[in-house]
Amino acid sequence: MDQTDQKLVQLERKLFDLSSLLQAGKAFDNLLGVRELYNVFTSIVQERFGVETFALFIMDDDRTRFEMVQGLGLSGELPADFSFPADEGLLWQAIRQGQPFATVDSLGESRFTVPFERYRLSGLLSRYFVPLVHRGKVVGLLSVGTKKNGNSYTDNDLEFLHILAEQASVSIITAKLYEKSEADMVELNKTVKNLSILYNIGRAMIHIGDLKNLLKFILQQAIETTEAQKGSLMLFDQQTRRLVIHVVNGLPDKKTEEAINSGAMTCRTFAVGEGIAGKVFETKEAIIVNAADKDERYLENRESNVESILCIPLVVADEAIGVINITNKIIDKGIFTTEDLELLNALGNQAAVAINNTSLYEMAITDELTGLYIRRYFNVKLDAEFRRARRYGHRLTLAMCDLDHFKSVNDTFGHQMGDTVLQSVAGLLKIHARESDIPARFGGEEFVIILPETNGEGGMIFGERIRTAVAGSKIEGFPRQITISIGLATFPDDADSIQALIRAADSALYEAKQNGRNLVHRFVPGVSPS
Ligand code: GH3
Ligand code: MG
Ligand code: MG
Repeated sequence: MDQTDQKLVQLERKLFDLSSLLQAGKAFDNLLGVRELYNVFTSIVQERFGVETFALFIMDDDRTRFEMVQGLGLSGELPADFSFPADEGLLWQAIRQGQPFATVDSLGESRFTVPFERYRLSGLLSRYFVPLVHRGKVVGLLSVGTKKNGNSYTDNDLEFLHILAEQASVSIITAKLYEKSEADMVELNKTVKNLSILYNIGRAMIHIGDLKNLLKFILQQAIETTEAQKGSLMLFDQQTRRLVIHVVNGLPDKKTEEAINSGAMTCRTFAVGEGIAGKVFETKEAIIVNAADKDERYLENRESNVESILCIPLVVADEAIGVINITNKIIDKGIFTTEDLELLNALGNQAAVAINNTSLYEMAITDELTGLYIRRYFNVKLDAEFRRARRYGHRLTLAMCDLDHFKSVNDTFGHQMGDTVLQSVAGLLKIHARESDIPARFGGEEFVIILPETNGEGGMIFGERIRTAVAGSKIEGFPRQITISIGLATFPDDADSIQALIRAADSALYEAKQNGRNLVHRFVPGVSPS
């Protein structure tokens, strides 16, 4: 080969290198995935040198170790996740120079104690290391073994590797940063989403005044946020000292669900420590069971299609008040994760406080014996309903009830039986009242019901319904028939103030009593005594 030929070959080589590098640069710019970058990098080196052994190491995030991300022709026992400490003596000194360097001397002897020496990978041991440097910081290390054609590496080769390594360093760092920020964004988005879920649930809970609806809402939100199929909410009953299901949601049989939620149907209860719910309650620690059919803690009948369970405690001031059971995650192969657990726990913490406050409030406004509202609460509600009726021009009817000959019930059967009769009649009032009606215990055996947006005729229909229900009822252990008398008065027809309305209803009741009892009477202006 004469000199011109040699020059030409060199020139051609240079051109090839330049165009490879240009293409490499383009490829690096367009690829954002770190893995893809490693692959492109590897194939460029392979194409250029036909090396049989090759490895690419990337500095880990703590900058303490080089982790192998690509390895070609590596046989032996070198594990796929091989890594070695970054700051080891002489080798590290050489890497820090940032220039490609030979790992063997002219006699083929190792110049360093290389970390993979013991894996007897001669190709890797014997040739070149090319540090990957970005802004003066070592970010990785390329290790190239013997070329396929056996030739040694020329200055041109080393320059090529050096430039390629520089390009790759920038791209790899950029890609890693991008992937990290993407992962951070996903994490952040999830946190923001979870926080906003909790915030909205928290806000909504404040506006739910009654316990039943609050429990329904909490359970529904718990099921939705964990993307599960169904669930139940249990509260601890102080009297029986057992966990009682208060609401269920997502049952395939809606009739059963309604029956349970209305209290018409009762479910099995759990003692403290019994079953998963009992354990969660006892320990105040959530439990995830992802194979319910194989878990001995799971006590429900095996036919109820329960695959996975997430159960969290409801805790207020370090005291468990109940649990939320969530069953069968719909997505993610039905597996509940610790993330679900944390989210549900956060929801549970808010829920527990709301439940506690609401039940304390409910306890404060309900009469212990009958479960109806107390008179003070009735006063507050009547005031509010009266204003509303006046503002919107609605009618408002008040039904005043008094049991007939109740004194003789007490006298004949004892006070206790009297109480039982009162409870039974109160139960009938609750069943026959609409959701918007407000039944209260006015006095001993006197009840009053506020009927918003109801005129006199509507009041009569309601009154008759109550009267016949009481007259037709059977009370266990009570041999007599109990009856009730009812007096009705309507705003604005019969009275224009709260006091006048109560007085009018009372005088209609008086008339019902006068006319023989077991009767419903409407106030008649100008006729009824006022
Ligand atoms: P009437 O048909 O005229 O209403 O006759 P009555 O016997 O029901 O007369 P009244 O309404 O005045 O009776 C009130 C009685 O109700 C007095 C008391 O013995 C009884 N009572 C009031 N509160 C309670 C209670 O909490 N428990 C029980 N067992 N009895 C009560
Ligand atoms: Mg009375
Ligand atoms: Mg009476």
